[in-house]
Amino acid sequence: MSPTKHIVVATHNAHKLAEIRAILNLPGWEFVSLDDLGITDTPEEDADSFIGNARIKARFAHEKTGWAALADDSGLVVDALGGAPGIYSSRYAGLNSDDAANNTKLLEQMEALHGANRAAHFVCALSFIDADGTETVAEGSFDGRIGTQARGEGGFGYDPLFYPEAYGFERSVAELNAEEKNRISHRFLALARLRTLLAPPPPQGQIVVFDFDGTLIDISSPVKLIGRLNRDKIMSKQAVLKSLAWGIRYKMGRELDQRIPRRYVFASFKDFPASEANNIMRDVYRSELRQHLRPQAVAALKQHQAEGREVIIVSASFEPIISELCLDLGVENYLCTQMEVVNGSYTGETESPPPESEHKLYQFVAWADTRYGAEGWELTHAYGDHYSDVPLMEIARHPIAVDPDRRLRGIARERHWTIHDWCR
Ligand code: IMP
Repeated sequence: MSPTKHIVVATHNAHKLAEIRAILNLPGWEFVSLDDLGITDTPEEDADSFIGNARIKARFAHEKTGWAALADDSGLVVDALGGAPGIYSSRYAGLNSDDAANNTKLLEQMEALHGANRAAHFVCALSFIDADGTETVAEGSFDGRIGTQARGEGGFGYDPLFYPEAYGFERSVAELNAEEKNRISHRFLALARLRTLLAPPPPQGQIVVFDFDGTLIDISSPVKLIGRLNRDKIMSKQAVLKSLAWGIRYKMGRELDQRIPRRYVFASFKDFPASEANNIMRDVYRSELRQHLRPQAVAALKQHQAEGREVIIVSASFEPIISELCLDLGVENYLCTQMEVVNGSYTGETESPPPESEHKLYQFVAWADTRYGAEGWELTHAYGDHYSDVPLMEIARHPIAVDPDRRLRGIARERHWTIHDWCR
């Protein structure tokens, strides 16, 4: 049993406190709010950034109590409104305005904006000041769109207007249950990062993640798979042409949605006997993908294994391909896209969201927590090639960009991550 550690959370917002408790549920950590301690005054939040305001609040709570303190400053950012409401999210419609007034103002300001111009993201900045005064900060954000009407009863603030990309823009955050929100939210991402930074070394599980497409291999597996489906006349000519056009743009290093070619494969395998489809995919690995393994990546993987780290492949590629790869490389763990089977045939749907972008991070954290317990692991190295790998790479002690696309290369340079140009 670890001793109890009391942390004062610098908020008067009960919803935020509940979310923090649910997400940062480290054994022995006990959160109390300023209200619980009878502290009703608040500091002036006069910084010009979310992090700046989080720092002011954490410092205030730490100085008032002498305890470890955690503060969150968060808000909604709409690009087409020049970043508004931003740090003014809680008082967008004026000092002391409530959620309903802020939401009404937001809808009014966005009346003339349509489609992608309604893009927005939530940001959460955290400042944690330990009892000895040491400060740690972390930030998280998640993307979505502002709807034209409020929907749902859950959550708080702008939740009824915000339709997250992670759920296909189909439901507002207020229509998600607490667990569904906590799996994707800006607060989850910031807290997951904070937890990594505060995790006590040395943990028992040292984990290394490798992405597959573009990282372990120097091509895209869906593109090879589509070539095979074309030759076997399983995929329509039109879908083949569209996905080849995608493949050319991908090769040119454009930042493209990796979900597109996978969707063509899903569609082709709809109502297809699963065992036959699996054989095709395994064969594509053996005859076409295996030769594209980067020798340097395989050597790095083997070295991590030899040094006692646990390797896991986290890829949105299909299970028959990834399981064949794992057999080949002697890797026991993987997370990948599982296609749904009904009566022995693929339905064209997936069992759960494919592990890509934020879903890589969510599914990896869930896997590691289940295997080692929330405090029992550390992601020591994460290898990725694409900017959509960033959410997972960010929680690694050593993020490693392999032949990265332009956007990831920029991020890696800015943050002093290792870059390997393992071109063959
Ligand atoms: P803060 O309390 O100064 O950090 O202001 C946060 C404000 O941003 C809240 O009052 C909400 O309006 C908005 N906000 C932050 N996080 C969320 C969220 O998870 N859902 C909805 N609104 C949020």
